[in-house]
Amino acid sequence: MLQKNIQKIDKKTILEYLEATGQKQAELFSLSKKIKEATFKNKVHFRGIIEFSNLCQNNCFYCGIRKGNKKTHRYKMSLSEIEQTLDFIDQSDYGSVVFQSGEIQTKVWRDYLLKIVTLTKKKYPKMGITISCGEQDHEFYKKLRQAGADRYLLRIETSNPALYKKLHPKNMSWDNRYKCLQSLKKLDYQVGTGIMVGLPGQKLDDLVDDLIFFKDNKFDMYGLGPYVVHDNTPLVTPSVKKAWKKNKEQIFNRTLNFLAIMRIMFPKANIAAATALDVFNPLGRIKVLEISANIIMPVVTPTKRRKDYLLYEGKPCISEGADDCYDCLTSKIKNWGLEPVFGEQGNSPFYYQKKHGQTKRI
Ligand code: SAH
Repeated sequence: MLQKNIQKIDKKTILEYLEATGQKQAELFSLSKKIKEATFKNKVHFRGIIEFSNLCQNNCFYCGIRKGNKKTHRYKMSLSEIEQTLDFIDQSDYGSVVFQSGEIQTKVWRDYLLKIVTLTKKKYPKMGITISCGEQDHEFYKKLRQAGADRYLLRIETSNPALYKKLHPKNMSWDNRYKCLQSLKKLDYQVGTGIMVGLPGQKLDDLVDDLIFFKDNKFDMYGLGPYVVHDNTPLVTPSVKKAWKKNKEQIFNRTLNFLAIMRIMFPKANIAAATALDVFNPLGRIKVLEISANIIMPVVTPTKRRKDYLLYEGKPCISEGADDCYDCLTSKIKNWGLEPVFGEQGNSPFYYQKKHGQTKRI
C-alpha cells in the first residue's frame, strides 16, 4: 500500500512521510532498502570527482563559488594536474570519473574541457565519464558527447520556476536549465538531475512537485542533497543562518526521507549519496547508501585545491588527500555491510532499460 501510494505520488502520503521519524520512518526506510537491494543488492559504485576549476560566471544566491564571492581564490587545474588525478582514479579502480566545475561558456573554456574529455577517453577508454559543468549549448554538449562523455549531471535545483527565480539573478532562467536537460537527453547522455532540500523559501509542496517533475521527465540518475549555508552568499543573513542551524536536524531528516521516497519511485535509477549529507552527520552518506543510493563520489581533487571549492560551509575532507578518502570511504562502506564495487562503470540500469527494454549489466 505504502509503495503504491508513493509510486503514484499520493500527496497526502508523501507529505506525511517527508516528515516521518521513529517507527514511521523505519517503515519507509525498510521499504526503500528492499527496493534498492532488488536491483543493486548491497553494491556501491564509485565515481572519483575532480573539482577541476572554481571559475564561474554565475551568481547563484546560495553557492559559495559564485562569481561575486571575491574571498575565494580562483583556480583552474592544468592538464597535467588533471592527468595525475586521473591516474589515481585508475589505480583506485573506481571505474568512473566526474569532472565538476563552475560554469564558463567561453570558447577557450570549452576547448579546454574538450581536451580534458579527449585525454581521459584516450588514456582510460574503459573509464565512465560524467560532466557537471552547468548550462552549455546543444552544439557543445554534442561535441563533449562525441569526445567521450557518457553522462551529464545538471541539477534543476528546484522544479518551481518562481522559487528558482528567487534564488538566482535575472540573467539566469529555469526555462534555460530545463532546455539544457532536454538537449542532454536528445544527445543520448545518461542524464542526471536533482534539487536541494531545505532551500530558504522551499515548501513541502515544492518537494512533492519535484517528485512529479522527476517522474514526468524520466531521468537516468539523481544527485541531490541538503542545502547548506555559506556566509559569503546573499542568501545568508544572520537570521537565515540562525534558522538553518535551528532546523538542521529537520533538513537532514527530510533529505533522508526524500531520498527513500525517490528510491521507491525510481527503483532502477542511479542515485548518488551527496557529499553535503556528511555536513549533518559523519555517516550521512553511508546511511543514504544503506536505504536509497547506489553511488558514491569520493573527492579526488588535489588537497591544495579543496579549500577553494567550497560550495557550502563545513564541507568534509578539505584537508585530506584522495588516498585518505579512499581508505575512509571503503572501510565505512564495508563496515556498514555494503559492498564496494571496483573496475566497473556503474551505469544507470534505467538508461539501458529505456534503450533496450531490458536491464543490461552495468
Ligand atoms: N556549476 C555546475 C556544477 C557545480 S555546482 C552546475 O551549475 O551544475 C553543483 C551543485 O552544488 C549545484 O547544482 C547545487 O545544487 C549544489 N550547491 C551549490 N551551493 C550549495 C549549497 N549552499 N548547499 C548545498 N548544495 C549546494
